[in-house]
Amino acid sequence: MLAKIKTDIRHLTLHELKEAFIAKGDKAFRGQQVYEWLWKKSCIHFDEMSNLNSETHQWLDENFVINAIKVEDKQISSDGTIKSGFRLHDGFLVEGVLIPADNRMTACVSSQVGCSLTCKFCATGTMTHERNLTPGEIYDQVVLIKEWAQTHYQKPLTNIVFMGMGEPLLNYNNVLKGIEKITSPEGLGMSSDRITVSTAGIAKMIKRLADDNVKFNLALSLHAANDIKRNQIMPINESNNLQAVGEALTYFYAKTKKRITFEYIAFNNFNESLKDAKELLAFCKNIPAKVNIIEYNPTGNGQFTKADSEKIDSFCAFLERNGIVARVRRSRGKDIDAACGQLANKKHEEAMVD
Ligand code: SAH
Repeated sequence: MLAKIKTDIRHLTLHELKEAFIAKGDKAFRGQQVYEWLWKKSCIHFDEMSNLNSETHQWLDENFVINAIKVEDKQISSDGTIKSGFRLHDGFLVEGVLIPADNRMTACVSSQVGCSLTCKFCATGTMTHERNLTPGEIYDQVVLIKEWAQTHYQKPLTNIVFMGMGEPLLNYNNVLKGIEKITSPEGLGMSSDRITVSTAGIAKMIKRLADDNVKFNLALSLHAANDIKRNQIMPINESNNLQAVGEALTYFYAKTKKRITFEYIAFNNFNESLKDAKELLAFCKNIPAKVNIIEYNPTGNGQFTKADSEKIDSFCAFLERNGIVARVRRSRGKDIDAACGQLANKKHEEAMVD
């Protein structure tokens, strides 16, 4: 006999869960109870849902699964950054990071297994896109990283950034559903203001975020304010050029009144000259934004090196003198390959050698 294929119960909406209980001849509020166990109490075992009887536990077991993620090889950096691989139910691996600072605890989470965008400076960009993460898998990363903040630092998680593996706007529905579970009072109840979704710049989806009136923050991985240069390092720019992305961001700001963050990796001898700074300034003129200048983290392909600190500082100072809010962000967790763009690097290289 063929084994019955069980549904991942976390794919069901509250309404669908209630309907499932009604169809089995039970009360709708049982569905509500299960929903709370899943999304408020982050329970991943039916038999731990203690206000349900054993008959219900058995029925849940026979019909559903909870495809939770599992922590694999947790590493702690000398600067306190914690990274782990998360094993998915079908064997894939993604990574998530906790970045501790004096006044904040930030979770950096993945949205896809691999990535389709092939940005030239990013380790994840060398992997193929295998699949999108489900809302439950996105939610689980937050739950687990939140636990690390408590156990290692006795502090609550304060911020979440979608800057791990993958392009969140190419997994639009699941990312939004995951964020809904993380922020809603029926879920973890965290603040949308403390969530940032980072995109390589998919104009159409940025407009859709605006139309969906999202409450979280948006960051654009800009890295060059010149189409020729940006095409060289981010192939997505060929179909979503600076004008298209700029228009989408203006639209996003007009609808949400949320200021955009531009991320700008400073590459040695590529995008850190005065001319580059002037181009960035011109791009910023039309869009209310602040600029985070990021140190380049080596990913092993040798194509890029990081810019000199003095150059980065004068690039930043130029922007500030011209009325742009700009900050230099130093990397965290480099010794364990947990810094931006380094995720899945080593594992992937090992896999490529096999
Ligand atoms: N796809 C999304 C989110 C993942 S990347 C995006 O492009 O924004 C998260 C951030 O890390 C992006 O700003 C990305 O440009 C940056 N990044 C990628 N590789 C990096 C590297 N080697 N050094 C520093 N930052 C890097």
